[in-house]
Amino acid sequence: MTSEIAYKVDTPHPREERVNLLGLSPAKLEQFFAELGEKRFRVSQVLKWIHQRGVTDFERMTDLSRSLRTKLAEIAEVRPPELVSDHLSEDGTRKWLVRTDGGDCVEMVLIPEQGRGTLCVSSQIGCSLDCSFCATGKQGFSRNLSAAEIIGQVWVALDSFQAFGPRPDRPVTNVVMMGMGEPLMNFDNVVDAMNLMMDDCAYGLSKRRVTLSTAGVVPQLDRLGDVTDVSLAISLHAPNNELRDELVPINRKYPLEQLIESAGNYLAKLPDTHRKVTVEYTLIGGVNDRPEHARQLAQLMKALPCKINLIPFNPFPNAGYERVSGNALYRFRDILTRAGHTVTVRTTRGDDIAAACGQLAGKFNDRTRRKARHEARYRRQEEQEQPVKMVGMEG
Ligand code: SF4
Repeated sequence: MTSEIAYKVDTPHPREERVNLLGLSPAKLEQFFAELGEKRFRVSQVLKWIHQRGVTDFERMTDLSRSLRTKLAEIAEVRPPELVSDHLSEDGTRKWLVRTDGGDCVEMVLIPEQGRGTLCVSSQIGCSLDCSFCATGKQGFSRNLSAAEIIGQVWVALDSFQAFGPRPDRPVTNVVMMGMGEPLMNFDNVVDAMNLMMDDCAYGLSKRRVTLSTAGVVPQLDRLGDVTDVSLAISLHAPNNELRDELVPINRKYPLEQLIESAGNYLAKLPDTHRKVTVEYTLIGGVNDRPEHARQLAQLMKALPCKINLIPFNPFPNAGYERVSGNALYRFRDILTRAGHTVTVRTTRGDDIAAACGQLAGKFNDRTRRKARHEARYRRQEEQEQPVKMVGMEG
């Protein structure tokens, strides 16, 4: 095992130097206990206390020896993000705002449906990719979340439901890495957190119930299949490079053909052969919703085993884009279906609490100053749109 993490295990630690065990993957927890001279079975014991029973106090971990509990209390901690707010939508969608180390806040959303609950988890504070239709992108970027801050979102959600322990009606059955941020720009921490989601001693979700969604960071996508076999979604949003360059600027670096090839290579690395990539396509009124776009998309996606998920755009203040009309949405879907594709239409959920797809924004310090630039541009636009007052024409 590599020894990337240098745990200082011989002296009591001030709080800021303690190892937060919440975010240690099973492999890293094993390394941690090996450095303490502890046996391997401590890994499953501690994982179960933290992730299945929701216990953060080492003193309550009663199957650990007293000396180990004392040692852990000196050098380690289990510290989830702090819950700031918890909103419940009229349709049952629930949104949490949590404070991370350093004070920045991120959001996560739970969408309950018949027999399942999908938790949409954030991977970064803000996002550097600046997709033109995305509320998060317009907020700028602060930093990557740690693995503890990512898995801590699952922990906080379960804690809110007091849903630790074995329950037949688990509120979180699926996790999608589709909240704030581009997960592949935070590769190692996201992989560690997903490993915890799937570990039987932690959350025990199957690989089909954990989905990573990427806008197309191709070099990292090429690596992903070497370390995990979670479900993959690609955020396409446009059927040709010209339009995608505008909507998803990372396309200028890694165009559609490269992204689709890389997604196909990911599928080829998976042991089971029937997996498909989910193609996310946000339909924006008058922008990418025309019949010719649907025909281009139908043709383009013949190259990849996939299902296409159409997402009506959710407007937010100063978005500059409009919701797709019902007619355009169903016309678009029908063209894809007639071409032989499996298509789903995502119902808008949690609109009343700004929890719908693309509306997550959080509260954080934008290091890129992109938010300020966007706001200055909106101000200029508004000034230009003010009716011009003609001297001598009043009244
Ligand atoms: S759509 Fe995703 S990748 Fe693009 S700016 Fe928003 S969060 Fe980032």
